[in-house]
Amino acid sequence: MKITAALSGHGGPAPQLVELEQEAPRAGEMRIRLVATGICHTDLHEHPGRHSPQPIVLGHEGAGVVEELGEGVSAFEVGDHVILSGNSCGKCPSCLAGRPTYCDLAMPLCFGGKRLDGSTALCGDEGAVHSHFFGQSSFASHSIVPVRTAVKMDKDLPLEKLGPLGCGVVTGAGGVIEALKVGFGDTIAIFGTGGVGLSAVMAAKLVGAKRIVAVDLSEDRLELARDLGATDCVKGDEDDIGGKIRRLTGRGVDFTFNTTNAPPVHSLALEVLAMNGTAGFVAAPLGEWAPQMFAMLAGGKQLRGILGGDANPQTFLPQLAEYWRQGKLPFDRLLSFYPFAEIERAFADAHSGKAIKPVLLMEEQP
Ligand SMILES: [Zn+2]
Ligand SMILES: [Zn+2]
Repeated sequence: MKITAALSGHGGPAPQLVELEQEAPRAGEMRIRLVATGICHTDLHEHPGRHSPQPIVLGHEGAGVVEELGEGVSAFEVGDHVILSGNSCGKCPSCLAGRPTYCDLAMPLCFGGKRLDGSTALCGDEGAVHSHFFGQSSFASHSIVPVRTAVKMDKDLPLEKLGPLGCGVVTGAGGVIEALKVGFGDTIAIFGTGGVGLSAVMAAKLVGAKRIVAVDLSEDRLELARDLGATDCVKGDEDDIGGKIRRLTGRGVDFTFNTTNAPPVHSLALEVLAMNGTAGFVAAPLGEWAPQMFAMLAGGKQLRGILGGDANPQTFLPQLAEYWRQGKLPFDRLLSFYPFAEIERAFADAHSGKAIKPVLLMEEQP
């Protein structure tokens, strides 16, 4: 059937709306009518072409309604509300352990731009268009998704707000709750207060962390961080940030959570740890960087890469929605909505930082 989708691979600053032909869902897949899709930094980085082949339809924070079931799909019904998260094989040791973001096939399944058999679900005027980005390619009116990508949500939840739970929010909240396992009375410093960092701030408050230090260059973001639970805010361009953070607790913090790719911040995130502390990070340092190994040894410190908050989307995303319902995770305060047709403006606002988490509304006319 004909769908509207935003295509990357033409050299422009943002994906462009085009009409594409989408095939029917194959065995184990469903067609989703998308209601909304969040824009994540991974989309911004992939748009000019990085890991995935082009032309491609990006988008990996989709929320929508099940419209058509492929052969053998029994866990969902037409009309179910779903949010879309990453794809995974379901069979490797990581998937069996409930850690599908570390699936052995995560790269081909999320960034390969096609099914494992090499086929894609989309076709344009000039031939095949890559699909299945994170198992969803949700910058589109409709998406073909493998069932493992979809998570069923209660119908009384506001579907247009839920997409970012699938990547940005789970990366921050899962990083704190599931990966670092920050607990009551612990101390944490969070570097970068974008959508991921602010989700981490809210989660740290939720678990009862005693000291939540937010670090960013933007006063506005820090103000919002304070509002969402940060106990202390440190401006990223101040002198001696490391000393300041260490003095707040007298001995450094139990955890750091670094959402930036700046090498000096990666060093700082290790430096401010207390003895036996753990530094979690969600973005690799840009360029050359090496940790101070002696300081890590002498302090018994750990450095820990975290993807998708370590979470199992099938159980953790409904849990996050429940926290929201209880008023404990007001992630909707991070969202700015745009009609799908204004994707270029949404991309520009994501790049500039004007919007913390832009969300495209697929059905809204400008
Ligand atoms: Zn993402
Ligand atoms: Zn797997």
